[in-house]
Amino acid sequence: MTPPPWKTRTLAAQALGTIDPATRAVVPPLHVSTTFIRDPDNQYRSGYSYGRPDNATVRQTESLLAALECAQEAALFGSGMAAATAVVLALPQGSRIVASQVMYWAFRDWLANDAARFGYRVTFVDATNLEALRNAVTAETALVYIETPGNPTWAISDIAAIAAIAHGAGAVLAVDSTVATPIFTQPLRLGADIAMHSATKYLNGHSDVVAGALATARASTLWEQVKAVRARHGAILGPFEAWLLQRGLRTLATRVTTQTQSAIRLAGELIGHPHVADVLYPGLPHHPNHAVAARQMSGFGGMLSIRVKGGEGAAIATAAHVELWKRATSLGGVESLIEHRASVEGPASLCPADLLRLSVGLEDPDDLLTDIDRALRAAHNT
Ligand code: PLP
Repeated sequence: MTPPPWKTRTLAAQALGTIDPATRAVVPPLHVSTTFIRDPDNQYRSGYSYGRPDNATVRQTESLLAALECAQEAALFGSGMAAATAVVLALPQGSRIVASQVMYWAFRDWLANDAARFGYRVTFVDATNLEALRNAVTAETALVYIETPGNPTWAISDIAAIAAIAHGAGAVLAVDSTVATPIFTQPLRLGADIAMHSATKYLNGHSDVVAGALATARASTLWEQVKAVRARHGAILGPFEAWLLQRGLRTLATRVTTQTQSAIRLAGELIGHPHVADVLYPGLPHHPNHAVAARQMSGFGGMLSIRVKGGEGAAIATAAHVELWKRATSLGGVESLIEHRASVEGPASLCPADLLRLSVGLEDPDDLLTDIDRALRAAHNT
């Protein structure tokens, strides 16, 4: 893993500085062809034969993401779920997996219910508790899968320590780094083997593309299997989405830096709000994993959750009264989103019923504060 010559922000802004050889354009062209001419001697020397296993625009965006994650290679998928499930489906049937309890609910649900149908055996563990993790990971474990910061409490797991535990047992560590982004954490540099993203979120950043990404520290049999799963299941990202994602990536550093500044401001103000019982944000000193976050992340990110005094009813009423925040699921876009997380996650949710998840966008933080303060007061009739 050779570190790239330029800083992450520079690589992103210039999309690796790629110049189109045909036109000298600074913006790469969009390759939409699904099929390619075979050479007269029956070879495919261009490296492209068909659009399901590979595409030139997808490859360009993958190269950029690989550079941002200090990865050997990256692979783009049609969604974050397609990327996450590909890691599991690339393992031999019957493999044992240890996964963090706190994570994006739909993938936890897939691991808990669907993975068994494919013959995988999954154990969930509190990944912020290294002792618990050490006990759960055995010589039989093939994969340790964590999400940090983890939805929706923003639990921070110690990637370097968990990589040591996983590798000590001969397992691979995959890290869902969607919320951290490569601007704030580069899991592969901390010892992880695979970094995963819902690129739908910060990487694209404009709430107009559903995409997923994996980045590998090194070439391996597992990685070849991941690519085979993508090709066979037809899970590759479409070229137009890959092109949009590359455009979104150019402003990643600026977006997440501004979003983090606003999140810090909101967390600091909301912790003292009369109608807020607690603020969950890894940048706050009282967050249970603040010390790990401060060591591991170069920024605390743009996601926070608040627990509203008065319970579930008051939380839902607060979300009902916002005007500026958008009452919608997802995260990481330019517009700020608010959602009552337990309603989204359904009956199996581990999320407290009074929790509202806030994805901080690029609006003026004064406006965001004014709006949520008004909504909290309206929900409490004060
Ligand atoms: N990982 C995290 C942390 C997420 O927040 C999400 C979606 O919300 C996913 C994975 C799944 O990604 P997608 O919706 O792109 O399939």
